[in-house]
Amino acid sequence: MSRAITADNLFLAYAGQQALNGVSLQVEQGEFFAIIGPNGSGKTTLLRSLAGTAAPDRGTIRILGRELADYSRRELARNMALVPQLPDQDFTFTVREVVLMGRSPHLGLLGLESGRDHDIARGSMEATRIEHLADRRMHQLSGGEKQRVMIARALTQDPAIMLLDEPTSSLDLAHQIRIMDLLERLKTELGITVVMVAHDLNLAALYGDRLLLLRDGRGEHTGPPSEVLTFDNLERAFGCVLLVDESPVEDLPRVNIIPGRHLDRDLMRRTKSRSSQEDEP
Ligand code: ADP
Repeated sequence: MSRAITADNLFLAYAGQQALNGVSLQVEQGEFFAIIGPNGSGKTTLLRSLAGTAAPDRGTIRILGRELADYSRRELARNMALVPQLPDQDFTFTVREVVLMGRSPHLGLLGLESGRDHDIARGSMEATRIEHLADRRMHQLSGGEKQRVMIARALTQDPAIMLLDEPTSSLDLAHQIRIMDLLERLKTELGITVVMVAHDLNLAALYGDRLLLLRDGRGEHTGPPSEVLTFDNLERAFGCVLLVDESPVEDLPRVNIIPGRHLDRDLMRRTKSRSSQEDEP
């Protein structure tokens, strides 16, 4: 079985500024792979490179054993779906129309949808709980609803690989869990490979089989959550102190933010104890 994604030594610069600085990764078929890292570390650029919507200056990408450059757009869309951070759809379309567009790489020359195509689109709307929005136009939706429409369209594409850029960033907690559980089910029940940019480290830990921690366009660490989400790795990558303990839900690391006031207090305590030691004769 060929690997879902292999990327070797990717470099990409925007107007002289290096966004990817030699990133490599391998994602197995049926794996849930999360890309994490601070703002500007290259996560979106990496995901867009894997999707073929950004072109690295150097490096190679293979999708399901074939060079990305050898795929036609249509062929690629039959194998891989991208859920971008912001909807890329014309706002005059209805939700139903946008979701049905996911079928276009599978349609014949005339581009006519069959009853089966409509059934698949309906199933995707049910799975993402947007059936009640079917006749609304995109501009009439909230950010979280638009995000669910984009996920429904990707599902309708029926891909082997799903790439998602922070798919839960505008969702409330119930919808976050629903979407993450749905992605997990796609993985376990259908063997779909999920690659997701995650800004929420705890979601990445709870759902990701492996994580890639990016910093300054470089892959700093790759591995299971327990190896990547360590105090030292996070402090170095994010430039702040984060407390890592164990999740009460599963045997996984949990990342806690520490408000500055607690850090200041701690610093003061340490400074005080140091100065009182100095005072001792
Ligand atoms: P992340 O997703 O980790 O926040 P990005 O991949 O969006 O990072 O960006 C990586 C770097 O590339 C950042 O410094 C960002 O400002 C820059 N960048 C991203 N997109 C563009 C663009 N279209 N033009 C110029 N610079 C860009």
